[in-house]
Amino acid sequence: MILKGKTAVITGSNSGIGLGVARELAKSGADVVLNSFTDRDEDHAIAAEIAQETGVTARYIQADMSKAEDCRRLIADAGACDILVNNAGIQHVAPIDQFPVEKWDAIIAINMSSAFHTTAAALPVMRKAGWGRVVNIASAHGLTASPYKSAYIAAKHGVVGLSKTTALETAEEPITCNAVCPGYVLTPLVEAQIPDTMKEYGMDRETVIREVMLKRQPSKEFATVEQLGGTVVYLCSDAAAQVTGTTISVDGGWTAL
Ligand code: NAD
Repeated sequence: MILKGKTAVITGSNSGIGLGVARELAKSGADVVLNSFTDRDEDHAIAAEIAQETGVTARYIQADMSKAEDCRRLIADAGACDILVNNAGIQHVAPIDQFPVEKWDAIIAINMSSAFHTTAAALPVMRKAGWGRVVNIASAHGLTASPYKSAYIAAKHGVVGLSKTTALETAEEPITCNAVCPGYVLTPLVEAQIPDTMKEYGMDRETVIREVMLKRQPSKEFATVEQLGGTVVYLCSDAAAQVTGTTISVDGGWTAL
């Protein structure tokens, strides 16, 4: 229960990695604020389930991470924010010359600009509390590139840069900021890429998983949401107090290639 008494806000956490991170933070004693752009009974039920399983306070706050004012309202409505995990993200796969402009704008807003807005709102709260952790969920695609993912790769490289700047601006304070760079994790976001990638490469599902997705992941295994959650818990621990402005890859060796 190393995070007892801390409040964690995790953007985009009603599914996938964000939900896995929220669960691991709650298991370590942190109160958690879950988020997405929807406001369904099932969203609030996920928070209630985490509270019941772990004994922490868990709430769900609707806020659309494509909108600057919603990003900032999320932090205000959370009431406290010792740990901020910028995780909300979407993907679209297409060649640059056919990439829909509205998809480019949405990916840049949700995957990158939201982290700027939430961080800007959270830093004064962390300074007041005298402690803070910002963890940005970037990607192996924040360090390397692949074809057909221009907006996502631009946004994730941007998040890595934002993380370094946040770290430098807080370097003399008990606040850290780092980027976690997952390789492939089998979440709804990755599931949704499979049909487009099948079309793009003219391959069946199993071949896309083996030859395209896990081709660059030397371990030949997907990373898990629990492993990503454990990495975030480590970054929030005292052991990581001097770990700031860096990237931690959880990618089965992808970026070692
Ligand atoms: P996911 O689709 O399961 O989760 C994305 C989350 O973001 C969901 O909770 C969704 O509701 C939320 N979201 C989407 N649009 C939003 C908006 N406008 N406002 C608020 N929330 C919004 O996908 P995931 O794989 O769990 O991805 C989570 C993060 O991890 C993303 O930033 C993604 O880029 C990153 N990532 C994923 C992988 C992977 O292989 N799955 C690899 C590297 C990085």
